[in-house]
Amino acid sequence: MLLGWRPKFIKTPILLYYNDELYIDLYKKSYPIIYQGYRPKDSFAFHSELTDNSSDCYPFDFTDKSLTAYAFLNKNKPIHSELVGMTKEAPVGCLHFDSKFESGNLDQVVMLNPYEYDLYMCPDTNTGSHMHWFYFSITGFTSLQPIKFNIVNISRNSPLFKAGMKPKGYSFIKVERGESSGWEYIGENVTFGPSKLNKLLDPGSKKYFFMLSFEYQPICVDDKVWIATTSPYTFTRLWKVIRCMKNDDSLYHTSHLKLSTLGKSLSLIDIPLLTITNPHSKLKKKVIIAIGRVHPSETVGSWVIEGFFRFILTRCQEARKLRDKFIFKIIPMCNPDGVIIGNSRTGLSGDDLNRCYLNPSEKFNPESKLIKDLVEKLTESGSKVYMFLDFHGHFCKKGSFMYGPSYPLHDLNYFQTRIIPKLLSERTCIFRYHSSRFIMERSKKSTARMVMWKELGIINAYTLETSYFGYLNKDRETMVFCIEDFYTLAEKLAKTIYEFYFMQKQERLFHKQKAKERSLKKQRPTPKTRESRNYENTPVNDMESDESSFGNQPFSLDAQSTNIASKVPSEMILPLNIIKEEFIERNFEEVIQMIKQDCSEGEESESQGSGSESDEIKEVIELPPLDKSRRNISIQEVEMPKIRDEFNKPKKKLVLNEKFAKRLEKIREKKRMNKLRKDKEKSNFPSIIQKAMTNSKLKELEKKEETNKMCN
Ligand SMILES: [Zn+2]
Repeated sequence: MLLGWRPKFIKTPILLYYNDELYIDLYKKSYPIIYQGYRPKDSFAFHSELTDNSSDCYPFDFTDKSLTAYAFLNKNKPIHSELVGMTKEAPVGCLHFDSKFESGNLDQVVMLNPYEYDLYMCPDTNTGSHMHWFYFSITGFTSLQPIKFNIVNISRNSPLFKAGMKPKGYSFIKVERGESSGWEYIGENVTFGPSKLNKLLDPGSKKYFFMLSFEYQPICVDDKVWIATTSPYTFTRLWKVIRCMKNDDSLYHTSHLKLSTLGKSLSLIDIPLLTITNPHSKLKKKVIIAIGRVHPSETVGSWVIEGFFRFILTRCQEARKLRDKFIFKIIPMCNPDGVIIGNSRTGLSGDDLNRCYLNPSEKFNPESKLIKDLVEKLTESGSKVYMFLDFHGHFCKKGSFMYGPSYPLHDLNYFQTRIIPKLLSERTCIFRYHSSRFIMERSKKSTARMVMWKELGIINAYTLETSYFGYLNKDRETMVFCIEDFYTLAEKLAKTIYEFYFMQKQERLFHKQKAKERSLKKQRPTPKTRESRNYENTPVNDMESDESSFGNQPFSLDAQSTNIASKVPSEMILPLNIIKEEFIERNFEEVIQMIKQDCSEGEESESQGSGSESDEIKEVIELPPLDKSRRNISIQEVEMPKIRDEFNKPKKKLVLNEKFAKRLEKIREKKRMNKLRKDKEKSNFPSIIQKAMTNSKLKELEKKEETNKMCN
């Protein structure tokens, strides 16, 4: 945190500091600074600017008592006019910039000539770093000549920009003419590499920057264009989506949605908590917790979690079944402060809210503390937390993938925790199983996922990462993401969770049946198998969670209407194109076979070596030795559940994926052959051994009779 600053009280507007060292005399005053971004002095100031509680803005409670005290304390202080917007040095005919809106980030613009500008992003609040989120608008075009923009102070490398990713833009005129549906990739001659700033910094400076350059050709001089790292997703948009869902009875089962607040963020924003379940279902339900958008620049995470909670509230069959069996607790935006002010990674205090779960501070990271408390309260009240999902965006890799818990190969959870990623990869090529990782990194030990798994014992605790850019299709061609892809991924994830649940249920029934048969045969109690012990982690008879214990209060949605945020473009709320697909019945053993096959082919190690020159590489280097050695372990050395002989039962449903179907058929064929071979061996059992066995049994009986006589 910059200058060692820490807020003294929780309910005080959070003071904001800015790092000016980067901007002093870098250009020796040879080029004019034409724009100075909005630098609010504290959290109350920016909420006052960005929302008026109308239906076009996010809600904020200005009547809070601590805020009144703050206004009183500031009453006699002189009001300084903060320099915001275009400066006096801006020459006539230059472009006009603006970033004073929700999630906006542009701190300074230096004009090199009327057709080239150097742009600086604002570091995250109360830090001097984390610059990769830019979002600003431009007007005042004088000709249709291309204009070059250099974003000069990007603080992290992005292989995706090198691989063809472009910034996103929204042209008001294009949308009005119907030539564009909203945000789209823009710019020509896009380059990404070391920044020219590096040469201007002191030789001893530890800072190192990257630069993104691109040319934008205006389509009309009267146009207004917004430019951002990727499609923005504001807190206001989240509110609009929630309101839409609440009012759309035709698509959504609105009575199954309960809207409440998790608590207050550091700047006193109410953090929305959606509880989705069928309150009339008599089944004992387990809880699934999904959180998103802890890192403000990762807007893709918001798109995916939106698709997820919208899908599970729809009237389609799978969604209904999920609501019957689970209580979903969804926190779509756990860092609203960072999102509103336009941070790249941190919360308002300057802390990464996904690196403080081991010991979250009520003062500085109330958001993380509230989430951890929620899970702890659920567990204490006897509810079973079945799954924890954290939705993120990835700045370096393509596709979507998961980070999951790390178990040694001899532990049954080793395969158990890989089943969901494997099943999801079979449903959509957007998700790549081979990019998923199940390792314990030191750098991530305080993330939500790791703490939920290690400390709170949630086995199925995953981070779902989705690229800012696109994914590889079956022919390994790069497909650029559109919003519908995020919704599709979310829908497939929800269906995979149901499939996983169904498979577990079948497995439990199967083992119950087997145990019954054994006890009937032997007339003595059967010991628990490894498998049944394992599935005890997800018992059927769970307590219904106690909703009232959290003191949730409903949001007030009534508001006066004025217009501030509507000036900023937001994506339309697209309809969900729910994909109808037949349910394919498969069991754990088949999926585990596939994972084993992948392991033996060494495919999983692909993900562990691939990556980028960013933090990802550092994380890979920190791999624990156990994981590295795993790659050399032969699968045959591992004790696995015995192969079931139930493979010849008729499969009633359609196969989803051709490649998958072939592999499944191969595995089934192998099992059929094994069974035939075993049957044959049994029938050829030497009769001498059989005789010997009966003889030994007779002897045992004789002995028993003798001892009985002795006793009598
Ligand atoms: Zn993230």
